[in-house]
Amino acid sequence: MTNETIFDKIIDRTIPADILYEDDYVLAFKDINPQAPIHFLVIPKIQIVTANDINDQNAELVGKLYVAAAKIAKQMGFADDGYRCVMNCNNDGGQTVYHIHLHVLAGKPLGWPPY
Ligand code: 5GP
Repeated sequence: MTNETIFDKIIDRTIPADILYEDDYVLAFKDINPQAPIHFLVIPKIQIVTANDINDQNAELVGKLYVAAAKIAKQMGFADDGYRCVMNCNNDGGQTVYHIHLHVLAGKPLGWPPY
């Protein structure tokens, strides 16, 4: 599956998003339906459909999602309090947009397990 998703439209600015960070490889923007006081998504600028498509060739790019999350956490001042990074995969994982994205949730103590 390589169909365009709503995230391609956010990358090319066809639809608006509250963008927090951008570099040559990744884009971070606030989730439209936040599940925590702070909830944003970090996505690669090229489509990787699901976590199952992460491989040796794109591993460095996927690592950059975490690098961006940590940078933003420090810039926004919640790094020391803590946060959660989640990547949902396919139906049982709750994935709804088929372009991988790291959810970054913060701003309060988060419950565990997440169900
Ligand atoms: P998933 O369910 O695939 O793990 O997460 C997809 C996330 O994308 C959801 O948390 C949803 O709220 C968010 N989302 C879906 N459409 C849009 C949109 O158009 N703009 C933004 N900012 N977030 C979106």
